Amino acid sequence: MQIPFVDLKRQYKNHKAEIDQAIADVISSASFIGGVTLENFEEAFAKKQAVKHCIGVNSGTDALYIILKILGIGIGDEVITTASSWVATASTISQTGAQPVFVDIKDDFLIDETLIESKITDKTKAIIPVHLFGQMADIITIHDICSKHKLLLIEDSAQTHFSERDHNKVGQLSSASIFSFHPSKNLGAYGNGGAIITNDHLLANQCRKYANHGGLTKHEHQVIGINSKLNNMQASILSKKLKHVDIWVKQRRSIANKYFELLADIKEIQLPIVHEDAYHVYHVFCIRADRRDELASYLKEKGIGTALHYPTPLPFLECYQDLRHKPEDFPIAHQLSKRILSLPMFPEMRMDEVAYVCDQIKAFYS
Ligand SMILES: *Cc1c(COP(=O)(O)O)cnc(C)c1O
Repeated sequence: MQIPFVDLKRQYKNHKAEIDQAIADVISSASFIGGVTLENFEEAFAKKQAVKHCIGVNSGTDALYIILKILGIGIGDEVITTASSWVATASTISQTGAQPVFVDIKDDFLIDETLIESKITDKTKAIIPVHLFGQMADIITIHDICSKHKLLLIEDSAQTHFSERDHNKVGQLSSASIFSFHPSKNLGAYGNGGAIITNDHLLANQCRKYANHGGLTKHEHQVIGINSKLNNMQASILSKKLKHVDIWVKQRRSIANKYFELLADIKEIQLPIVHEDAYHVYHVFCIRADRRDELASYLKEKGIGTALHYPTPLPFLECYQDLRHKPEDFPIAHQLSKRILSLPMFPEMRMDEVAYVCDQIKAFYS
């Protein structure tokens, strides 16, 4: 059997007519950037996330950069974030001129909220928790910390479309929340895409303006901005896909349940920690495994794709070597990076394929 880590072709095959139509509609309208196609998607996405505003931009990375700029973060400021995420969480902080301040994670892979206060200084302006792998960080506690210390809260929700924690949807307790529509994400476009969501009308307008050359009307540029838009090809495809996303999330959750059931008795691996109050959307199914590299090679021989999220914690990336962080500074992130292994996970994965992956893992350890 050949089971790729992610197979995007299956979803296209299942919805080919609809996707092809979405693309054809944009081409025949000859309206490629802005206008109703984008507005319709923004409105539908905001509604589904239960917030007032959505601004479609070119990528999740741009979404982070834009909201940081709009919240006035820059040179001399510090922004607290997690030690384990995709590089964009930290690099966008650096791009504004601010300094990322990393916090270790817990064995649920999420920022350790009990360590956050020890990192707050008088330069701290904001906290960016990352809702990693499809599960939200402890947003209530982090929100309380932000209120107490008068810090801004921005959620990196690139991996958690429609996730919840303690009945709070993503985007409810923060100034703004960002999403990625990278093709691999739970709601994926056919190219780059991203969005900012917020309940704050003023913030929404400022983001929209900044992403449109610093002005909302042509030839009037009140501030220096950038050019970052979710193009209509992507918006049109995403509008169609939005109607199916609940089913895809359920399929991801069923696959995860199967993994939990079939991998329960293997003492050499630990399964993901899922909080009781969390609605996990399983962007990534990441286990912790003894002899991880050997297991990954063994699975590869058996036709099974795996991945590492993430092999190097952010503080240890070469681009942050000037911070001179040591493994002891982030012991959990460091230890886990040696044990993590992400198993195949995509909505169209069949249960016999899940069973095959689990059988091979069992075979490896027996
Ligand atoms: C994917 C991702 C991003 C960046 O999104 P792009 O659309 O690829 O720019 C940011 N943060 C996290 C946690 C991500 O997974």
